[in-house]
Amino acid sequence: MKEYSYWLDTLSTPEPEPPTRYPELPTECDVLVVGAGYTGLSAARTLARAGADVLVVERESIGWGASSRNGGQVLTGLKLDASTLVSRYGEARAREIFYVARESMVRLEALIADEAIDCEYERTGHLQAASKPAHFAVFRKEQSLLAHVFEHRVDLVSRAQQASELGSDVYYGLLVDERSSGLNPAKYVCGLAAAARRAGACVATGVAVTHVQRAADRWVVSTTRGDIAARDVLFAINGYADTAAPMLQRRFVPIGSYIVVTAPLAPDDAAAILPRGRMAFDSKNFLHYFRLTSDRRLLFGGRAEFSRPDGATTRRAAEVLRHDLATIFPQLAQIPIDYAWGGNVAFTRDQLPRAGKLDGLYYAGGYCGHGIAMATHLGEQIARRMCGEAFTHPLFDDRFAPIPLYSGKPWFLPLVGAYYRARDIFG
Ligand SMILES: Cc1cc2nc3c(=O)[nH]c(=O)nc-3n(C[C@H](O)[C@H](O)[C@H](O)COP(=O)(O)OP(=O)(O)OC[C@H]3O[C@@H](n4cnc5c(N)ncnc54)[C@H](O)[C@@H]3O)c2cc1C
Repeated sequence: MKEYSYWLDTLSTPEPEPPTRYPELPTECDVLVVGAGYTGLSAARTLARAGADVLVVERESIGWGASSRNGGQVLTGLKLDASTLVSRYGEARAREIFYVARESMVRLEALIADEAIDCEYERTGHLQAASKPAHFAVFRKEQSLLAHVFEHRVDLVSRAQQASELGSDVYYGLLVDERSSGLNPAKYVCGLAAAARRAGACVATGVAVTHVQRAADRWVVSTTRGDIAARDVLFAINGYADTAAPMLQRRFVPIGSYIVVTAPLAPDDAAAILPRGRMAFDSKNFLHYFRLTSDRRLLFGGRAEFSRPDGATTRRAAEVLRHDLATIFPQLAQIPIDYAWGGNVAFTRDQLPRAGKLDGLYYAGGYCGHGIAMATHLGEQIARRMCGEAFTHPLFDDRFAPIPLYSGKPWFLPLVGAYYRARDIFG
């Protein structure tokens, strides 16, 4: 079993780039972007197209964070479901937020087409599977709310009919949304990096930012390759915030998410499991998500471990996921697992993503596991603001409050985990 992202093995040019590619880094720039994932690269592309002198610095390699490790599901909506959005924010604001999520998917599709990014992007639609009979009743309410408040159509498929969509007997009906898509996340992030470079941005890998400090009218950004002066700085580090960005360590909670990928399935098995090739996830709090890859493997993920990924947690998580996969798809109980890995998902306290300016530094993140389209979108939007465009955005927040009693060590996760596990069992 390989303990790294399957997607990396689908790339024709391996990352990381040779460090010699940037023997000299500039000592100044207009905008320094920290992090070369979807947020940072999308922002860099927009900034460079507007004429800014942009430098992206990435501690590891392009897409090393969540952007090359995710499930590749481009889903309609946010982490919060429609009923929570409406009950918490009222119809008008809920609609604004939901439309941002929908718009982010339209923008993603346009960007992929404009830049001709070859990343296996396909409008597959997605399905959500009811883990309990009561969850299918919740789907009915969600369907009605989506139609009436958000003018968004989804279809329901009863348990009796669901074999046309999903080859598993453990679920109690499905909610199907035709607008969602799938892509190869590592190919997408590499394509985005190439697009940012074409626009004129410099993307330097193997360079970590260690500290940022104000000096006169500039920021002095200390890196492992020397100091760089910048007019503006954008932190695009999402679930990987470290001491270089203490303000984000107090607002984003990194939580591990893990994935296993099987050996290629026989064509008949693949067709029986997901006959329409949709992206899929279930309705638990500790949910499972799954999909087929272009070479007919089953990618199967979930929050099998709460802690951040390392070798030991990844192997433990792989065992849990192997067991869960066999429970949901007993026909695959003997299939070898070829890959296992994990990555950090950044959660905010209210499970809404954000972008804005804190202590004079720009940021975007907190996508709560729904970041492919949203990170691309918020990267673009914050870049427009950095270019001086005056506009409001439902997810801009310059007064984003820190989480009380939290400064980067999520001591409360075991308690939160126990609570949600109990809800999955008894709820
Ligand atoms: C296992 C998993 C599955 C997921 N599945 C999905 C999915 O199916 N659909 C979906 O929409 N979203 C999914 N997500 C979420 C999605 O991948 C993220 O929201 C998105 O990739 C965030 O992009 P980003 O650019 O903001 O951050 P990242 O891609 O994480 O990039 C941040 C980068 O910042 C760098 N960095 C951090 N600190 C520094 C520093 N001090 N100096 C220099 N560089 C630094 C890191 O090395 C990292 O590469 C998943 C996430 C995980 C982990």
